[in-house]
Amino acid sequence: MAEIIYLNDKLVPRARARISVFDWGFLYGYGLFETMRAYRGEIFLLERHLKRLMDSAQVIGLGPALVGIDLGKACYDTLRANNLDEARLRLTVSGGETDAFPWVGGGGTPTVVVTARPYTPFPAEKYEQGFRVGIASLRRPRHSPVSRLKSTSYLTSVLARMEAAAHGLDEALLLNEDGCIAEGGGCNVFFVRKSGLVAPSLDSGILPGITRGVVMELAKALGIGVREGDLRLSDLGHFDEAFVTNAIIGLMPLVAVKGEKGQDIVIGDGRPGKITKSLMAAYKEMVERETG
Ligand code: PMP
Repeated sequence: MAEIIYLNDKLVPRARARISVFDWGFLYGYGLFETMRAYRGEIFLLERHLKRLMDSAQVIGLGPALVGIDLGKACYDTLRANNLDEARLRLTVSGGETDAFPWVGGGGTPTVVVTARPYTPFPAEKYEQGFRVGIASLRRPRHSPVSRLKSTSYLTSVLARMEAAAHGLDEALLLNEDGCIAEGGGCNVFFVRKSGLVAPSLDSGILPGITRGVVMELAKALGIGVREGDLRLSDLGHFDEAFVTNAIIGLMPLVAVKGEKGQDIVIGDGRPGKITKSLMAAYKEMVERETG
């Protein structure tokens, strides 16, 4: 069966899903996206993803153009049209096609695209081994509001991840311009110290991850303390555990960081820790409760 794409109110076969060469998303990276996970045919935390997208759309001036478009229905229609249960969905919106420059003319009709593709999770062994990450040479600007948006201007993440992959690492870890730990190329990061969670604060220049928010709620419910602030590479040696989060992989233990001089910094004993595992279990339970 041909892959079906949602494009501007229509479900079309992939070969017919085409957008204009004048699309503002293509020309200027003027667009936003959400990546979501479906389990058993249910899109996990769909409402939270849509809220983040709409809040971000207000920030970049795309909000009014999206009013009246049922983005949630578009996501479910795409999932169902592709007959998928376990899937990775991507909802992308952009300023659409107009001849004017974005800073001159008003926007046109937005482009709305949803794709739903089969998703095979990492094997259980990967969650037992954990990720190894490398410090990216690119920085995440903490004072730029763009760092807080999941925008189609995704070049910093792409380049950071390419750099990590070229070194055989699972993910990149980006610092901000003050040298504080910000986030992964496509994930947020948490550390554990003295049985409490420690995370880079939102003003470190990070995306307010949906999974990050959920993990904080789960931690509080389990009586695990949560502290946010400025974290430095020199703190890494003091942490007992670490993990990264995003909507696709959930929580993935982080066991080692390749430092800027190529040295390996092992977190804790180099294996997924107790707090990490208890939060992974709580997250799994939540997924089952909400999508079971
Ligand atoms: N930071 C960045 C840069 C990301 O691309 C992602 C993935 N969306 C995240 C963090 C994690 O966000 P979420 O938990 O909403 O997937």
